[in-house]
Amino acid sequence: MVNYGFVIDNRKCIGCHACTVACKSEHDVPIGVNRTHVKYIETGTYPDVTREFSVHRCNHCEDSPCTTICPTSALFTRDDGIVDFDDDRCIGCKSCMQACPYDALYIDPNKGTAAKCNYCAHRIEHSYEPACVIVCPTEAIVSGDLDDENSSISGYLRDHVTTVRKPESGAIPNVFYVETSEEMLDPKATERTGEYLWTDQAAGVGHYAKYADQRLGAADTNSMIVQLALEKKARAAAGRDRAIIRDVMERLDEQAGKPKRSYDQPAKGILWDWDVAGYLVTKSTAAGLYILMMLAMITGEINFGNEILIALVASIGLLGLTGLLLINDLDKPMRFVYVLLRPNFDSWLVKGGYTLGAFANIMVAHLGIFFLDMPEIWHMWLAILGIPLAWLTGNYTGWLFKQAKGREKWANRTNQDIIITGSIEMLVFGGAAALLLISSGYLQYAALAGAALIFTFGYKHILRDLRSAQMETLH
Ligand code: SF4
Repeated sequence: MVNYGFVIDNRKCIGCHACTVACKSEHDVPIGVNRTHVKYIETGTYPDVTREFSVHRCNHCEDSPCTTICPTSALFTRDDGIVDFDDDRCIGCKSCMQACPYDALYIDPNKGTAAKCNYCAHRIEHSYEPACVIVCPTEAIVSGDLDDENSSISGYLRDHVTTVRKPESGAIPNVFYVETSEEMLDPKATERTGEYLWTDQAAGVGHYAKYADQRLGAADTNSMIVQLALEKKARAAAGRDRAIIRDVMERLDEQAGKPKRSYDQPAKGILWDWDVAGYLVTKSTAAGLYILMMLAMITGEINFGNEILIALVASIGLLGLTGLLLINDLDKPMRFVYVLLRPNFDSWLVKGGYTLGAFANIMVAHLGIFFLDMPEIWHMWLAILGIPLAWLTGNYTGWLFKQAKGREKWANRTNQDIIITGSIEMLVFGGAAALLLISSGYLQYAALAGAALIFTFGYKHILRDLRSAQMETLH
């Protein structure tokens, strides 16, 4: 069986970007995004400085989180181990970008679909090597069949000690590095400061990139500007101030030897924002309201009447709004039906889509039973089916986020945590909506004020959480 991979020999890379340019030309990659890029880091202080280069790209992982989460199988693993993509199936949901631990994917600004290194599969099929391999002047990139012990890449792996990026991700990457530093492999070892070469896009490009400005808050205290400002101030300052400034400068000196990122590709910024936060609130409210009203009916607290009817109509409306927010977040909104028509059932986006649809149908069936004057006991039977579906509708996003292996904060959540958080959200949002519905007289005003507070703070809290998880530097 063929299994393609790359070796990147960092001893040979001279940081010329020929691979990046050849790839851009071969695949017509637009400005602002890359399928492969060179990262530079610098260690030491002038004149004793070293600069290290390393080529980063898709790792053609054996257990690729991007193909698992992709709802339409637009990303898929070929028989030869290459992780490829199909433009025509992609809906632009950006789940793959959240799932990839290596930040290898981008949304093509011209097409609105996800793209990445595909190992130049079209060249491989005609027995040519990938464009980056051909163009590299120092032969720092080696391609080939990892399973063929006679291939040059297998020989390279036999003769050299190699490392991979983020082995802890469990993705089993197939890009191996010869002689690379820990700092180069670990995205957290160097800060993305926006103060290095060509960093006008360091805060992010693409979907909701403007919110990534917050990244710039992580200022590089080691910067020359700070140093100069402090030195200037020290000359003019009073004795006590001078001592404080000297302390700060001593600390800066201590940090001076730490590696600095001196060139990297633009960050992708925030991928899921207000519409995803809004969608979490609307579906939790719809699910919570339904569950509470049905439990009240089953336990005999209320009969099937106007209150339940209004709750059902409100929940159906909220589910409709959920769908609209979801579609609004897609970069290919007209393809939203592909989630149901071209499903990858490993993805929680698909499982969630079907659950949401089934829950909506149950609620429509309740209305049908009522308007067709059918026996009331049927509402009970439907509720027994509807309550678990509603609960799953409120909770499934927790498992979708858990599939986003690129985001540690989401990927490391336990099932218990997902269930508790999802259930509390349903109880709080659904409870606020239910109180609004059943209250009367002056109590209605109190319920209205309470609901306004709960929805405002709840939405803001969810949005803040969503953004903070996506601030993590991935490469
Ligand atoms: Fe490539 Fe990232 Fe998918 Fe791994 S998870 S195959 S690095 S896109």
